[in-house]
Amino acid sequence: MPTRMSTLFLRTLRDDPSDAEVPSHKLLIRAGYVRRVAPGIYSWLPMGLAVLARVEKIVREEMVGIGAQEVHFPALIPREIFEATGRWADYGDGLFRLRDRKQNDYLLAPTHEELFTLLVKGELNSYKDYPLSLFQIQTKYRDEARPRAGILRGREFIMKDSYSFDLTDEGLAASYQAHRDAYERIFTRLGFDYRIVFAVSGAMGGSASEEFLAPTPVGEDTFVQCTDCDYAANTEAVEIAGPTPLDPADYANLPAAVVLDTPGTPTIATLVDRLNDGTLADLGGRAFSAADTLKNVVLRTKAPGAAEWELLVIGVPGDRDVDLKRVSGQLEPTEVEQAEPADLAKQPGLVKGYIGPQVLSELKVRYLVDPLVAEGTAWVTGANEVDRQAAFVVRGRDFTPDGEIGAVEIREGDRCARCGSPLQIARGIELGHVFQLGRKYADVFGLTALGPEGKPVTVTMGSYGVGVTRAVAALAEQTLDDRGLCWPRAVAPFDVHVVPAHKNDEALFAEAERIAAGLEAAGATVLLDDRKTSPGVKFADSELLGVPTIVIVGRGLADGLVELRDRKSGERREIPVASAIEEILAEIS
Ligand code: ATP
Ligand code: MG
Repeated sequence: MPTRMSTLFLRTLRDDPSDAEVPSHKLLIRAGYVRRVAPGIYSWLPMGLAVLARVEKIVREEMVGIGAQEVHFPALIPREIFEATGRWADYGDGLFRLRDRKQNDYLLAPTHEELFTLLVKGELNSYKDYPLSLFQIQTKYRDEARPRAGILRGREFIMKDSYSFDLTDEGLAASYQAHRDAYERIFTRLGFDYRIVFAVSGAMGGSASEEFLAPTPVGEDTFVQCTDCDYAANTEAVEIAGPTPLDPADYANLPAAVVLDTPGTPTIATLVDRLNDGTLADLGGRAFSAADTLKNVVLRTKAPGAAEWELLVIGVPGDRDVDLKRVSGQLEPTEVEQAEPADLAKQPGLVKGYIGPQVLSELKVRYLVDPLVAEGTAWVTGANEVDRQAAFVVRGRDFTPDGEIGAVEIREGDRCARCGSPLQIARGIELGHVFQLGRKYADVFGLTALGPEGKPVTVTMGSYGVGVTRAVAALAEQTLDDRGLCWPRAVAPFDVHVVPAHKNDEALFAEAERIAAGLEAAGATVLLDDRKTSPGVKFADSELLGVPTIVIVGRGLADGLVELRDRKSGERREIPVASAIEEILAEIS
């Protein structure tokens, strides 16, 4: 039976909702796919639910295809479970918290690592039980700070999350690869244009972490891609090519560091002006730019469980800013922020506007530099006294940082660390994330398996997520046009939209019914516009709703013809009504 628009629970809107910013959001509301209940909280109506169900089905098939088994956890979870991993506190305002009648604390789960780990611990104990992958498709709750963009960033949303459980690092690598391959199949089948980008895995460190992004200007994630090779990374994880580090022999002949009298030069701009005003001796008469100066930015960090903030100074070329997000991504779960005046007051050796790295190790202040500040490079930087700067300060000779960290804000045109070609900055929506979690949760909960010799082995885990509701909105975003939604066949709410182009012409309606019934009988899903409204309204709705193939039963019927429209290309052709069903089936297969 075709779905009849005369009785379908659907009302399309002519105007954009006032609170919608993103095109897909506007259209999903206007086309009656979803309705807003509160910020970041939505109801799914029949059209939306049809798309969601098809997305879920594809995700489920591919998970089952790699041998993952489906489970389903509650969203409502007692506090104690999240206390064990410290996340009751760590999650901060992002967590929805509530109490039961006995005043016990609960939360609505933002993610389910704890429950997966505990479930497996409760059921399995032998090495013979591994490897194992489990998944669920379930509702998550996160009190997102800016639930903009509608379904793209909900406070309630559906995620497919899976976890792999292995006994060895090689096993984890294989499980990770299987998931990664499955994700490629999922996003290809869904019809996405997507990129796989490197992401950082924070302090769990070293292990693989990649995101699947849908490039679109409305995406909230910034990523960087090479214009030549296939390197792509999110801005936290990106590595750029810098100068080649030198050996001490290579920079032995650089002039010795000198201290310069430079009153009133606490900023890079004032310093560069002074360097170029011709009054400073010993600088070799060259012109200086901000890129010749070394800027030292004072941050503060707090490791999980630490009582106090600690100072961290980061050195970058003076024409660059420190990207705090990039730095925190790499230092996670340690917190990072700009240092407060109070933090600086505790360390009088740091002279604001005149900080140089020459004294930092003596002051026992941790110092990291961006790789652009390579071994053997010479800089103009602070002399650690008010109104004084130093020139020819060489890394490796005059200061030795505690390490390197990719810290500069990436610019269009920075060079690819792999091939040296210029990098490009783009925006995207995060569709999914695969990463090697390692033994973090297994350690906390004591998830071990008895090995063949009877010794316990700690299990190592992988974590894999797909935003299922987000995928619906992201697909809408990537495929829509100025006339409305425009679904790829694999997820469209219906295969065919049949429209009798008249208010009430019985012959047209009867023929439309016949075609719709024939298509349904052959296994296609059909939306039939049997409403007694004008063709103009019906056409506009058919474009707004975005079913990929539209069949117009109109005036041509008198000559034995109906019109076949391709929603995406706009292409139209007349086909004989006698063979219409076969031709339409061929078109959609
Ligand atoms: P984001 O950076 O966009 O907040 P995340 O890194 O917090 O995402 P994960 O915890 O890795 O996301 O969750 C796995 C997947 O769930 C994400 O790749 C994304 O597709 C989806 N997702 C995360 N947060 C939301 C949300 N608020 N609304 C809809 N989908 C979401
Ligand atoms: Mg998030």
